[in-house]
Amino acid sequence: MKSLARTFMFGVLNLLFNSEVFSRGCAILMYHSVGENRVFFTVRPREFERQMEYLHKHDYSVISLSGLIERLQQGGRNLKKCVVLTFDDGYRDNYANAYPVLKKYGFPATIFVATGFIGQSMDNAYHEPLPMLSWGELKEMAGSGIIDIEPHTIHHKKLTELSSYEATAEIQESKKEIEEKLGKKCASFAYPHGSSSASVEDLARGAGFLAAVTTKEGIIGQKNWNPFALKRNSVDSTVNLVVFQAKLGFSNVLYHILKKYVSPS
Ligand SMILES: [Zn+2]
Repeated sequence: MKSLARTFMFGVLNLLFNSEVFSRGCAILMYHSVGENRVFFTVRPREFERQMEYLHKHDYSVISLSGLIERLQQGGRNLKKCVVLTFDDGYRDNYANAYPVLKKYGFPATIFVATGFIGQSMDNAYHEPLPMLSWGELKEMAGSGIIDIEPHTIHHKKLTELSSYEATAEIQESKKEIEEKLGKKCASFAYPHGSSSASVEDLARGAGFLAAVTTKEGIIGQKNWNPFALKRNSVDSTVNLVVFQAKLGFSNVLYHILKKYVSPS
């Protein structure tokens, strides 16, 4: 019932504030697993295909995260109907289920991997451990030119709960390993569990990244953008096509403002 009410509200907002007309900024989408498991954050492969088809059919400009950073550095023009795709943690199904669809549409994407889990599995709140990407799969995708592999620490711990020394090691070591194994320069970083603070942002900046992404929902515009606190809209198992459409634009921003008034807790 709750999800029906959410879909209805998003549907109304979509009608009133069509994301294609009201689009003033770029939406960074955050995915995790794309598969058939029952974990909350997982998007079914069929649903993922429908979402990418939607972007293609409605002429959204899907650009890379580094492409977005460049546009923002140049003043933030050309952000209308612009979307960035990101995947967190490095689930193996990204290779099997998302990569072929991304290749089909030529959509660039960034995968943030926790390097300590590469080739192993990662547990979650649903106690359904999921297999993770191998270095071979990461190398193949990085070589395609459309997938950018960036770090998400080693052990996937909340950086705000670590000492500055430990947090620095988590950030710098994961960056170094990816750079060495994939022969590239890392430019962006994702905070595990979206957990960051001003001092954690400083550590990411100090490690030489150009930007870092959070799990706070919102749209990226040219005004007041903080490169080390980029907002992202989460796409999970509860996101149907109506909610997906809202996550691309202004409806999602309004929804979160309205939600605060309806349930301020
Ligand atoms: Zn994560």
